[in-house]
Amino acid sequence: MAVQAAVVGGGVMGVTLAYKLAQQGINITVYERGDNLGGLASYMLYDGVRIDRFYHTILSSDTSMQGLMEESGVADKRHFTVTKQGFYDKGKQYNFTTPVDFMLFPPLNPFQRFRLALQVIWAQFEKDWHKMDTVPVEDWLVRVSGRGVYEKVWKPLLRAKFDSTAQNVPATYIWSRLQRMMGTRKGVTSKEMMCYLENGYCSMIEALAKKCEGLGVSFHLNTAIEEIVIENGRATGVKIGGETRRYDVVISTLASPILAQIIPGAPSDFSAKLAKQEYLGVLCPLLILKKHLMPYYVLNITDERIPFTAVVETTNLIDPKYLKDYYLVYLPKYIAPDNPMATWPDEQVKAEWMKHFRAMFPDFDESNIVDFIVQRAKYVEPIRPMNTLDDIPSIKTPVEHLYMGNTVMIYPELGNGEAVSRFASKVADQVLADVKSGAIGR
Ligand SMILES: Cc1cc2nc3c(=O)[nH]c(=O)nc-3n(C[C@H](O)[C@H](O)[C@H](O)COP(=O)(O)OP(=O)(O)OC[C@H]3O[C@@H](n4cnc5c(N)ncnc54)[C@H](O)[C@@H]3O)c2cc1C
Repeated sequence: MAVQAAVVGGGVMGVTLAYKLAQQGINITVYERGDNLGGLASYMLYDGVRIDRFYHTILSSDTSMQGLMEESGVADKRHFTVTKQGFYDKGKQYNFTTPVDFMLFPPLNPFQRFRLALQVIWAQFEKDWHKMDTVPVEDWLVRVSGRGVYEKVWKPLLRAKFDSTAQNVPATYIWSRLQRMMGTRKGVTSKEMMCYLENGYCSMIEALAKKCEGLGVSFHLNTAIEEIVIENGRATGVKIGGETRRYDVVISTLASPILAQIIPGAPSDFSAKLAKQEYLGVLCPLLILKKHLMPYYVLNITDERIPFTAVVETTNLIDPKYLKDYYLVYLPKYIAPDNPMATWPDEQVKAEWMKHFRAMFPDFDESNIVDFIVQRAKYVEPIRPMNTLDDIPSIKTPVEHLYMGNTVMIYPELGNGEAVSRFASKVADQVLADVKSGAIGR
């Protein structure tokens, strides 16, 4: 009889994992707390149109995601676009898309531009990321880029991504970004492009779930796992509505602190390690507009007085005809665990955000704003301070037959859909190896 596995969480990780395991004959049940699949990559319905809750794109070089789109039959619904990036500095917008824009970036003087370029090249010669993990990002950047470039370019970017935790970030973070930026790109287009799906990012996850159903996978939505049942050091099932359902193996795709809450039978040092893992959350208002705001997909903001750290107009990627001619602008702010903004009511967020939006775009006619919707998420970006590599959990947990996969474990890569779907394959490989060896079975 086939091995019975429960996958907890129906985001990109959970659905990809279900697909990879079901293809190898494992009998899978996926449990998802939300009312649709997708997790952070899910959508909301607005005026009958599906809108990504958070801005999501797939790059043409994201080969794992492109492969999944092809396998799940949505490849004909994808569109590739070349998009522009900008920088907002002292009330002005600057194009920051090509290496030439980079080299001519007006807020920097010629010597500073040279040092910025040198930093990008320098990163290609650093190969040992474990060494980079012991160096504070500020020290590494100031050494090559200089203080001026750090203050004008790197510091605002780090603040945008890490909020108050930027001080403890190791150099690995920027290094891995620069490696990815300069790496050889092999993808479905000869030039790097962004890609969207006609019915939103989540439609790929749903198409993959359909494919899974064809392989015998069952999905249970609106079903939060209350407990992973552990008996004599071994995971034996999941608890739902006080009732236990038995499985040979349980695989969690939950954020570490959430997993810690539902494994009372696990060794206490393991639960404590999971519980102390901190994450940045995101506060991400979405403006629904009647017309375009700007020419950029993303406009990075250097001014620290502005509460949001970028303006992201996804309708510079997505054709608005797929969105009933609405135009979408996200105004994200990544939030450290101690940031009081996390508890601001929506009205306070709106008042503060709109004050700065008006100042940034004084010529934009506000009668074109149809709606302002505040989206939030708590567990978004794992915080990995320097010298904490030992805190990263392994796929195989200390509880027999309990496996895990989440973005904490994807390091030093960035925790995007591409890396998550690749990691899902790794988790699947580990489970399959243990099934094959007889460590898991009936
Ligand atoms: C603002 C923002 C922008 C982003 N932009 C991009 C982008 O452009 N491109 C890109 O590739 N990636 C992007 N990402 C990252 C991408 O969303 C994540 O990498 C990916 O969605 C993570 O998937 P996951 O399955 O690991 O986690 P999650 O999506 O968090 O999935 C975990 C799931 O577990 C469920 N769950 C929790 N508790 C329980 C329980 N007790 N029982 C059952 N289910 C439970 C949750 O409801 C959730 O669905 C972005 C993320 C954010 C926040």
